Amino acid sequence: MNAPLRLSLDTAALVANWQALDRLSGSAACGAAVKADGYGLGARGVVERLIQAGARDFFVASWNEAAAIANLVGEAPIGLSVLHGVRAEDMALGGQGFARPVLNTIEQVQRWRAAGGGACDVMVDTGMNRLGVSPQDVADGLLQGLTIDTLMSHLACADEDRAANAQQRSRMDALRGVTQARRMSLANSAGIALGPDYAYDLTRPGLALYGGVPRGELAPVLQQVVTPQAQILQRRVLAAGDSIGYNARYTATAPVEVAILNIGYADGYWRGFTNAGRARSGDAVLPVLGRVSMDLTAISVDALPTLAEGDWVTLDFALPEASALSGMSQYELLTGLGSRFDRIWM
Ligand SMILES: *Cc1c(COP(=O)(O)O)cnc(C)c1O
Repeated sequence: MNAPLRLSLDTAALVANWQALDRLSGSAACGAAVKADGYGLGARGVVERLIQAGARDFFVASWNEAAAIANLVGEAPIGLSVLHGVRAEDMALGGQGFARPVLNTIEQVQRWRAAGGGACDVMVDTGMNRLGVSPQDVADGLLQGLTIDTLMSHLACADEDRAANAQQRSRMDALRGVTQARRMSLANSAGIALGPDYAYDLTRPGLALYGGVPRGELAPVLQQVVTPQAQILQRRVLAAGDSIGYNARYTATAPVEVAILNIGYADGYWRGFTNAGRARSGDAVLPVLGRVSMDLTAISVDALPTLAEGDWVTLDFALPEASALSGMSQYELLTGLGSRFDRIWM
């Protein structure tokens, strides 16, 4: 834990976000999507804290991801679902019982049945046309005899006000009682904000747990969880007319003091922050100057004559604002956070 850049991760904010989403989920249980290594924060750290907070349902994409947290979730009542279901190559892990596959295709259903079945979840496609079996296949009896914990579907446009949301919900409603599933689940983070009709028995937020704001209604109840910090590698002075960084995308019009930070686009501090991002130290705002490099970023430190080589600064990373500044989605900002950070839970 001695890297020149770190992610400060706020346990209280993560827990408060989950609690807020749990409240908004009404009588439905509130789970947590922890795929892509907990959206870049580190899945193990997220899962430990959310179990502590009371979360009982976790979602990853693949069996590798499931295996990496298996020892945290193995025992009832903590459930783990693998959203991409089971390929033939997954059946060895799938049979071990520490996670349920979310069966997405007729082939996956047949594969799971042939191996003896066991508790599973099923994804039904209600209009996104990404993953899932069709409502017609369900009506035709595809799932008969399966031990289904959760019958789920996924909203394509929950972060927008579109007729598609209600349409997906009514297709979901039509599946009530059609299978033996113990629970139904539809809403992701944005879906929770669409109201109680979308919550069913279990909600599956990801982004909002980590401080992402997919719909304005959620902004007042969500807190920033992730804050990148980077150490200063060198301080220097540009004279008027000097430029800085690749392709000289910033030229000083007057003398300016700059600091070079140990962070770049290889860490997920994307090139979109070029001449747009901001660092802070105390109350001082320290704008990014010039192009973000792979491993380095320059900031103006005119405001802080005392800031020196080895000192740390904090990057502005409130997700809605950082997304607007960088042109990256809030999801990409989180999941792009690289492996060079020390991840430090506060
Ligand atoms: C990723 C994912 C979620 C979480 O979505 P967010 O928009 O991050 O809240 C929920 N359900 C499924 C099926 C997913 O793939």
